[in-house]
Amino acid sequence: MTEAMRAVVYRGPRTATSLEMIARPEPGPGEVLLRVAAVGVCGTDVHVWQHGMGDAPPVVLGHEFAGVVAAVGAGVSGFRPGDRVVSETAAAVCGRCVYCLGGHYNVCPQRRGFGFQANGAMAEYVCSRPAILHHVPPGLPLALAALTEPGCVAYNAIVEKSHPRPGDHVVVIGPGPIGLMALAVARLGSPARLTLVGLRRDGVRLELGRAMGADDVIIADEDDAVARVVQAGDGFGAHLVIDAVGVSATLQQSLAMVRPNGQITKIGWGPAPVGFSLDALIRKAATLQGSFSHTYGTWERVVALLASSRIHVRPLVSPFALDAWAAGFHAMEALEVAKAVLLPHGPAFAEI
Ligand SMILES: [Zn+2]
Ligand SMILES: [Zn+2]
Repeated sequence: MTEAMRAVVYRGPRTATSLEMIARPEPGPGEVLLRVAAVGVCGTDVHVWQHGMGDAPPVVLGHEFAGVVAAVGAGVSGFRPGDRVVSETAAAVCGRCVYCLGGHYNVCPQRRGFGFQANGAMAEYVCSRPAILHHVPPGLPLALAALTEPGCVAYNAIVEKSHPRPGDHVVVIGPGPIGLMALAVARLGSPARLTLVGLRRDGVRLELGRAMGADDVIIADEDDAVARVVQAGDGFGAHLVIDAVGVSATLQQSLAMVRPNGQITKIGWGPAPVGFSLDALIRKAATLQGSFSHTYGTWERVVALLASSRIHVRPLVSPFALDAWAAGFHAMEALEVAKAVLLPHGPAFAEI
């Protein structure tokens, strides 16, 4: 008889999503069952909870998670019960397309993400697969390892998709969890100046940004962010602008802030069309780069950065019990916290 477990099940926006008792998954061949220690509430989770995700079937939310191996299915090697691990977000990929075979499985057209097309980790247990699991080094608490995913989004955008040099002026627009991680990763590249742009209502997160090493924090609804950025340094603007906001107004700002031959890397999503000219991009011969998700090597590096405390994520984490998941979502929605992290088996198991 299958056992039951608690899980945050999405059936539609707001009150259509709730904590339910569902069957605990069993690891099939090639699968690894994790006892979930910590699962982050992503901006995307909050967006889905606010606005829905089309006619998606019921699904357990949660794609930023760490846990302990509870059982392994037939044919699994490299992981055994008791191992502390963090999981990537692609529950399934095709394994056969040019992207999968080239190691860029994050853009596989058949990619099925945890918490969207496959049951995620806002539950007591979740099934993952060995190809996307990473061992968590001793000394890195599982509650902090759960922030590897946003760290990888930031690392992919800044290190893989952009090429900042020591001495550059780097601007991060948007002090959400991804923007704050981007700030932390950008700082490792020794910029001469690191600027964070947000709004007055982002107060708590802007303060965290200052603590994480922003040299300048600009409140864009009180100050002229473009003028502040362009006037800093040699007067030509930023070498690299990381746009971690999902509205087109910030892309327009990015175009005004970037220096000739500079780069804008866009991480923030937003379905609204852009209603302005891209001529500045052409005139400045600037690069506009999109960045999505991450791959295995990035995960190994970010886990190592967290374990070595080169990136300090503890100040970002606000823990919530799984039963209090809605409070975590509300706190994220109200911008009261940088990152709500749900602990399905309590703080001790999450090592926090
Ligand atoms: Zn996410
Ligand atoms: Zn593929």
